[in-house]
Formats: sequence, structure tokens, C-alpha cells
Amino acid sequence: MAPPLPPPPFPPRTMEANPSLLETIGVGDLVLLDPLSEASVVQNLKERFEHQEIYTYIGNVVISMNPYQPLPIYSSETVEEYRNCNFFALKPHIYAIADDAYRSLRDRDKDQCILITGESGAGKTEASKQVMSYVAAVCGKGEEVNQVKEQLLKSNPVLEAFGNAKTIRNDNSSRFGKYMDVEFNFKGEPLGGVISNYLLEKSRVVRHIKGERNFHIFYQLLAGGSDQLLEELKLARDCVHYRYLNRDSTSLPGMDDAANFRIIQDAMQVIGFSPEEVQALLEVTAVVLKLGNVQLAGQFKASGMESCSIQETQVLQEICQLISLQESVLEQALCSRTVEAKKEKVVMSLSVSQGYYGRDALAKNIYNRLFNWLVNRINESIKVDTSERRKVMGVLDIYGFEIFQDNSFEQFVINYCNEKLQQVFILMTLKEEQEEYVREGIKWTPVEFFDNSIICSLIEENNGGILAMLDEECLRPGVVNEETFLAKLDQKFARHKHYESKATQNARRIMDASLGSTCFRIHHYAGKVTYNVSGFVEKNNDLLFRDLSQAMWKAGHKLLCSFFPEGDPQKASLRRPPTAGSQFKASVTTLMKNLYSKNPNYIRCIKPNDNKKPFMFTEELVQMQVRYLGLLENVRVRRAGYAYRQGYESCLERYKMLCKQTWPKWTGAARDGVEVLLTSLLIPPEELAYGRTKIFIRTPSTVFDLEDRRRVR
Ligand code: ADP
Ligand code: MG
Repeated sequence: MAPPLPPPPFPPRTMEANPSLLETIGVGDLVLLDPLSEASVVQNLKERFEHQEIYTYIGNVVISMNPYQPLPIYSSETVEEYRNCNFFALKPHIYAIADDAYRSLRDRDKDQCILITGESGAGKTEASKQVMSYVAAVCGKGEEVNQVKEQLLKSNPVLEAFGNAKTIRNDNSSRFGKYMDVEFNFKGEPLGGVISNYLLEKSRVVRHIKGERNFHIFYQLLAGGSDQLLEELKLARDCVHYRYLNRDSTSLPGMDDAANFRIIQDAMQVIGFSPEEVQALLEVTAVVLKLGNVQLAGQFKASGMESCSIQETQVLQEICQLISLQESVLEQALCSRTVEAKKEKVVMSLSVSQGYYGRDALAKNIYNRLFNWLVNRINESIKVDTSERRKVMGVLDIYGFEIFQDNSFEQFVINYCNEKLQQVFILMTLKEEQEEYVREGIKWTPVEFFDNSIICSLIEENNGGILAMLDEECLRPGVVNEETFLAKLDQKFARHKHYESKATQNARRIMDASLGSTCFRIHHYAGKVTYNVSGFVEKNNDLLFRDLSQAMWKAGHKLLCSFFPEGDPQKASLRRPPTAGSQFKASVTTLMKNLYSKNPNYIRCIKPNDNKKPFMFTEELVQMQVRYLGLLENVRVRRAGYAYRQGYESCLERYKMLCKQTWPKWTGAARDGVEVLLTSLLIPPEELAYGRTKIFIRTPSTVFDLEDRRRVR
């Protein structure tokens, strides 16, 4: 006898023409998950993912799982389906959140922001493009409107060329954070926008690990530039010639660098770059690439001091020709350093390693400033010149919480930003809930939740937060080192609940071999992260030897020269530029202010596996992200009070068959009908609250109970 067939692993529930969230695979909204735990969240996401359902809600938050495979769910038919449809009437989709946000903006005059977070490769950038293209598809027509849309959309490939790179995690990884405000008129037609960028990973210009690449633009330029262009830029076509470009993964399957170069050339034209601007931009790009080929040789002076000189003068010549600078000026700036001692200027020669350090710092600096210029230039083109009142939709695509084996200054500031975003989330969601309860006339009982402002202050407080203490250390004259910085932190935060280090552990007699003596650990809302302080001071200082900025300022190349205003000897003030940490903090503060003034919408992206494989689900990996994204807290905050709410009419419509008095038709007010209905079902009154327009149900099991009764009918 043949063994009975095993049941299908996840019997799909029947879908109605208008599937409600209760009838999808697993639950379509985690607010309804019962019991609620990390494991049940992961299982629910898994079940849905295995049925190719990549989107799941938490209220109006969308969780998006990267399918790593093109899906047929972004067609213009789908756009039409979601357009002007009730948020909860269709299956969870990123278009639903985009539509909801756009409509609230247009019809209810509420500025919106869409916050997209998740780790590298989780699908943030794709999500931001889907939101943008959805909004572009529904926000008006006409020649003028279309031109604005074109410009806004074309900023993407340009920024990606200069700001994205292949990494181990993602072939098109954004190496900067991006926030874009799109501005609309009262009719909901786009007028233009403003882009802000955060922390470009500039170290990639000079170094990247095996299997990764430098920024796309270098490969695109070499592969796609015409012979004439390359000749003008004094570039050879083959990447092999450039030390800053990895030799073993220069080309990427599925990525046509040459074709992409033409795309960005076209995009820059559409945005409004003049041919001269494009040329200048590419010249500076070529200079960065060529700096990597400047070779230094060391000599020992009679005094025993090491000095260095340029070995290959041809590269130096070419660079100087491109930027109209005297060779001797650049050579001197690369090989020596002017120090002021007792009002006297002394020129000191650099060792080979100091020389290379300066050279790389220069390349990183030029590239970083070039990127900032690019963003500003795009902004100039897309800026709105009208005084008419505008409505704004912001889209934030920014690195999520990072926990690596080794965490340094970069992770520290990124995680600080995520801590702030979590704070926005908690405050805004609770506020929104509270307002709804007030609107509906329901008693609000405060709910316990974890308030992370204590961690934010630990990092950002003006007097004595970690960033401020780091600045103090960087500005202190004399020998600066990380040891003293750590010692000060230890002293200051000896009793802080969210700070830990070897010293505080010793004081508390905690044995913990996992924490190194050069590290401190922060207990973030998403988990504990150990940061190694080595490099903190240097990265925060982010200094370029003054000789180098002065040399750049002397270049006849207008664009390059404009990047180094501090190189002007007339203006060279002793005031140092703000530290990297304080700059970042300032931009985070501005961003937060901006977000608080808007109605937030969230897209939480999850990377389902480490192999970029279609529809593969690695449980441990997802579980970590569920934790780092704070999804459980997310659900708790969302259902603080009542898990489920529904308008009286639709509630009655859905469940009226469960009660004799309401079936087939209730003739009175819907609210009364619902009361009659739910009372007849003996639902405990403490489970319910009757608002002005909606019924509120406290626990998901009550909702499922109603659903079950409905199903057996
Ligand atoms: P992130 O910005 O979070 O680092 P990306 O948005 O660049 O990640 O996504 C990484 C890759 O995953 C994309 O290049 C694409 O191949 C794939 N991907 C992401 N989202 C989707 C999606 N919704 N559908 C199909 N493929 C996707
Ligand atoms: Mg990205």
C-alpha cells in the first residue's frame, strides 16, 4: 500500500477576491501574531516567504524580505491596483505604503517621510526606487511634470555610480546614506527636491578587500569612456594599470560598466550638467585614480632621518597637467610637511610611509569632496524656485544597525544614527496611537516600553557624551591617544547601565574574556556592540596635512581648487574644521528635526540569506535582523493597548452572520450593530473599546476567535 501523502507543509488558506490580512499565508500583519515571540515572528516570515510573499505588515510598517529574484509584482497593472485603494484591502505591498503616504500628503496635507532601514543587501535601495517610481507613476502628468520626474529619477544612477560599489554582501552596495525630500504643489505634482548625503565610505577609494571593488565610476569610466575621452584624461583603458582598482574582480557578471557609463552621461545631461562640468568632474575622478599610482622611494639622510621622493615622475606630470599645477608644488606637498614651531616655519621631510599616508588621505579627501559637490550640483538642478506652498515627501535610505566582528568608529556613528531612528520610531508611533485614541474618545492607558533616550544621551550629550569626549581628546594639544580616551570614558561611565569595558567589568568582578582591553561596549536597543577604540581619534580628526590642501588650492583647475577653500593662505585660519563625529552628529540632528516634522512610514528590509540566493531563508540570519530591527518592540508599541481596530461598518459587514439580530441586515447605526453582535458572542467587555468610528480589540486571539467562528459557519 502506498503511504499516505504527507500534508502540504503550509496549506494555503483560501483567498477571497479581497483577501483580508487575516486570511493570507501566516498572518499578513504581525500585530495579529499570537503568541508573539522572536521565534513566532521568524516562523511567520518564513512561511510567507516560502509562498513568495515578501511583504508583511506591522500596522502600517512594511517588512520587506529580499527575494533576490525579479518578481512580477511591480508592473503598471499592480500600480493601478494599489492606486487609491484602502491600505488594508489588498495584500501587503510596498506600493500600499507608498500610496498611503502619497495620498495623505496630497489630500490631507500632511508631509510624509518614508524611512527605510535594514542591513547591507537587505533591499533598501531597491525599496526606495520602488517607492519613487510608484509615486512618479501616480503623481500627475504633462510635459513639465514629466521633466521634473525625469530629473529626480535620474539623480539615482549618477549618485550610485559615485557612491556605490560591489561588496561581499551586495554587488551594488550604497556606501553612503541618502535622504531625499521630494516637493509637491497643492495638486500633488512634483516640483523638485533636495538630497542630503551621509558619511561616504571614502576609505574605499584607496583600499578594499579582495572580492570587492572600488566605486563603480572608476570601472565605468575606463570601460565606457571613448578613446578620445581617455586620452584627454590620460587614462589607460585597462584596470590593471591602476593600483587603487582591485585586479581580480574588476568586472562583474550582470553589470555592464560600459553601458552604465553611457547611462550616467545621459543622466547628467538630463539633470542639467554642462559638458564642461562633466569633463571637470571626470578629470578630478581621473586624478584620484592616478594618485594611487604615485610611487615613493625612501632615502636616509646623514642624520639617520628617513625622507622620501617621487619615484615615477610621469604620473605626477600627468596629474599636474590635468589640474594645471606646478609639479614641484605637488611633489613638495606629497614628500614634506611644514610645521610651525615658535612662529617659525620648518619644512620636515616625510618618511615613505608618512608620504603614502598623505597621498591616500589626499585621494580620499578629493573624492569625498567631489561626491559632496555632486550632490550639491544635483540639488541646484532640482531645487524648487517658487514661493508657493509645498508638500514634502522624504525618503531615507540609510545603513541599518551594524554588528561586525570588529567594530570601529564607522559602526559607532552608524549605530548612533540607528539609535536615533529607533527613538523617532517609538516617539512617533506612540504619539500617533495616542492621538488616535483621543480622536476616538478612548481611554489611554500608558504602556511600558523601552525608552532608548538614555543610550542616545550616552553618545550625543553635549557635555560629556562619548562623541563630545572624543572631540575633547582630539582637540587637546600634545600627544593624543586612544588609551587616555578610553580611560576617561571608563571613569565617566563607570556606573552607566549601557556602558561596559574591561575596567568597569573588573570593578564589578565580571570575568569576560570576550572583551578586549582596547574596547568599550555599548548596550544598544538592538543588542550589545563592542567597539575597538583604535583609530577613533584619527578618524574623528580626519585631517589633511595643510601642505596638501594648500597645494590643491593652487591648482588652476577651478573645480578642484574650489574643493579646498582652507588651502587659501590668506584665509588659513587656525580654526580647525569640525571633527567627523561632530559633523555627523549635526547632520543627524538636522535629519531628526526634519523627520519629526513629518508623518513617518516605515519599510524594514531583511536579507534572508548570505548567498544572494533566490528565496532561500536562513533562520538564524533572519532572527538576528528581527532583533536588530527591533521588530518585536515594534509590534509591542503598535499594539500598545489594542492590537486590532476596524471601522464599525466593515466590522459589521464581516461578522454580521454570527448573530441572529444582525443577520442578514442591521438597520440601525453600525456602532450599535457591532455592540449587539459582540455582546451576543459573549466577548469579555475588557477586550473591547468602542470608539467614535472604530471598534478596538485588545488581543489578537479574540480576532482569531471571530475569524474561526466565521469560517465554520
Ligand atoms: P541595500 O540597499 O539594502 O544594501 P539593495 O537594495 O541594493 O540592498 O539590494 C541588493 C540586491 O538585492 C539588488 O541589487 C537586487 O538584486 C536584489 N533585490 C533587492 N530587493 C529586491 C526586490 N524587491 N526584488 C528583486 N530583487 C531585489
Ligand atoms: Mg543600498
